[in-house]
This record gives sequence, structure tokens and C-alpha cells, in this order.
Amino acid sequence: MNNKPTIAVIGAGLGGAAAGALLQQAGYPTKVYEQAPVFSRLGAGIHLGPNVMKVMRRIGIEEQLNSMGSHPDYWFSRNGMTGEYQSRIPLGKFARENYGAAYITVHRGDLHELMVSTLDQDKLYFDKRLVDVDDSGDKVVMTFADGSIEEADLVIGADGVNSRLREKLLGPEAPIYSGWVAHRAIISAEKLKAYDLDFEACVKWWSEDRHMMVYFVTGDEKEYYYVTGVPEPDWNHGTSFVGSSREEMRQAFEGYHPTVQALIDCTESVTKWPLLERNPLPLWHENRLVLLGDACHPMKPHMAQGAAMAIEDAAMLVRCLEEVGAADYQNAFELYRTNRFERASRVQQVSHDNTWLREDEDPAWVFAYDPFEVPLKQPTRQ
Ligand code: FAD
Repeated sequence: MNNKPTIAVIGAGLGGAAAGALLQQAGYPTKVYEQAPVFSRLGAGIHLGPNVMKVMRRIGIEEQLNSMGSHPDYWFSRNGMTGEYQSRIPLGKFARENYGAAYITVHRGDLHELMVSTLDQDKLYFDKRLVDVDDSGDKVVMTFADGSIEEADLVIGADGVNSRLREKLLGPEAPIYSGWVAHRAIISAEKLKAYDLDFEACVKWWSEDRHMMVYFVTGDEKEYYYVTGVPEPDWNHGTSFVGSSREEMRQAFEGYHPTVQALIDCTESVTKWPLLERNPLPLWHENRLVLLGDACHPMKPHMAQGAAMAIEDAAMLVRCLEEVGAADYQNAFELYRTNRFERASRVQQVSHDNTWLREDEDPAWVFAYDPFEVPLKQPTRQ
């Protein structure tokens, strides 16, 4: 193998796009294969904490994101019924000064489009669904659903919660349905002007078994977004999301604060998603194959850190390949796993418990992290 091996990234989601961009910047001949024929601007938002923005700085899109996103000064947690404040977590200037980058909220589609634009467009292949890999020779041989066959020295599985690569390493096993769904809707801020209510830039409304997280997804604050967590015992739809309705939202949030009722009244279209998880995997890599993001640690989104973990994984993986030298890829992959497993598993657990920032707490262990600067732990030799 040459100094820089050829690398295939399977999946151009947020983790795969980050991995592809960082690998190409570091000089690895990298191709990215995505099953979708095209990406659309699905109605959803996403938080980007300072931990992710430091990776975006390396990719070269931090300033664009800072202009694109909303910059909340606080994360508020409030009692869903009474509106009483349960926590006020300082972000804004405090985050920039103490965690080393901004905390922003953006439209997921805008973020994804920007991240994908940082990839070498001649090395990005849409409509390429990986169906099989053969890792028994000097190269990995990949077979795609269209019948085409490609080769690479190393293959990164960034192919999400139903990862084909994970299945190859660990056998078929459906993710665990958590028993919770998320409703997602984007609301025109124009409509909210009719109400004499304060629509805060980043607020989570809580009650015992459910919540609604609300924030702006554009810097001009024209689009407001909510995402919920609501118990629903079964998910039998067989699709990744279904349509929901204002009526269903009214029922789910009956008795909630007038601000939440106003958001439901202004909802034009709302979707409902099953929240899926896996227990921490016993294997993240084998021979020339390695996993990142939801392919190896899907989680409930209640910390708003799922994509963040995928993007941090991508950064740490590239760092470890550079640190160890890619010719010794097995040790590089083990160094990567050693430095990601504990953090990703802890974030999975806190997301599962849905306790994050419900009361005042210090979020520095999440936000101050920088995958390029954190001291590396060495693997324990077997
Ligand atoms: P994905 O984003 O799932 O990307 C995988 C990609 O691989 C897809 O493009 C897919 O089409 C492609 N693919 C799959 N199989 C194949 C194949 N066989 N061949 C080729 N391509 C393939 N995270 C946050 O950090 N902040 C948030 O605010 C946040 N909010 C969320 C809200 C909800 C309701 C949900 C459900 C999740 C939320 N998350 C959030 C979590 C986040 O969406 C995921 O953790 C993140 O998308 C994982 O990124 P990924 O790149 O690993 O996987």
C-alpha cells in the first residue's frame, strides 16, 4: 500500500461528508458513495455545538455556518405546563469564550448541502447503494445495487442506523425501537407574530414523559422549528417516517403552555419519526473496514449530539490515520476506537436517559471537546 491508501466512504450523511472532506484535505484519494439519487431539504433543524464547530473550522466552513445559523444566548429548559425555568445554560458569547467556538442552530438541509459541497464533486457518487463487500484480499471489493464493482484499500461505513457495513462485521440485527417518536415541523416565524408571546431562540419544554425542543434554524429567524420526544409503544410503519397532524400534536401536548399551543396552531406540516438505538457495539473495525456515526452508535436525539458524534468520529479517525500512518491501518483504527468508544457510549446513555440540561449542569465535557486537540489514549495491548 502507498503512503496514502485509497479510501471509500459509504454514505454521504453528515458523518460521511465530514470524513470525506477531511480525508480529501489530508491528501487521501477518497471516493464517497451515497445510495440516495439526490438530497432534498427535509424539514428539520440541528444544533451544532462548539465541539462540532471546531471540526467545521478544519473543514473550512465555520464562518459560513456562523452567518447561516441562529446564535442562541441560552439553552432554556422550562416546565411544559407552567413555563417555570428549570435551567438556563449560557451559550452565545460564553460558549465562544469558554468552549472555543459558537453554539448555533441551523436547518439540517442547509448544513448538509454546505458539507457535501466541500467534497470533491468528481469523487462523489449518488445512486450507489452498497450491497456487499469482500475484504478477503489486498483490496476491499465493493458491490453496488446497480451491479457495479469498485475497489478501495480501506472502507469507512458511514451508512447510518441500518448500516450494511455493520451487518457485514456483526451480522444482521435490527436497531432497537426505543418506544419514543419524534415529531418534526418547521413554522414560519411570520405566523407567530399574531401572538403576544415570547418565542425564545432555544428552549426545551419538558414534562414527565415527553418534551418539545424548539429553536430557529436560520440566522434571520424566519424559520422556527420543533422536534419532540413522545412515548409510543410500537412502530409498525416500516418506513423511516410518517406524516402526523395538528390534531395528534394537540393530543400529545394537551395541557402544555400557551406558547407550545401557539406552535401547534401554526403547524402546517408535521412528520413523525421512530427513535432508534443500539447498545454499544463490541466491534468498530475489522481488517480494512471501519464504522463511524449512526452505523456504530445510533442514539435517541435528546442531547442533540448524534450527528455531532458522527462528525467527531470522522475527525478522530482522520487524526489517527495521520498519527499512526495509514499503512498500519489496523493500529490506526484501534487508536480511533480507543479514543471514541467511551465518549460515544456516554453520550448514547445520557441521550437514552433524556436528562441533558434538564436542570442546570456544566456541559463543558461535551462542548469543550476538540477531537484534534484532546490528548490521545493509547490502546491497551491484549
Ligand atoms: P446518516 O445521517 O443516517 O447518514 C447515512 C447516509 O448513508 C445516508 O445519506 C444514507 O442514505 C446513506 N446510506 C445508507 N445505507 C447505504 C448504503 N448501503 N450504500 C450507500 N449509502 C448508504 N444530531 C445532532 O447532532 N443534533 C441534533 O440536533 C439532532 N437532532 C435529531 C433529531 C431527530 C428527530 C433525529 C432522528 C436525529 C437527530 N440527530 C441530531 C441525530 C442525527 O441525525 C444522526 O445521529 C446523524 O444523522 C448520524 O449521521 P451519520 O452520517 O452517521 O448517518
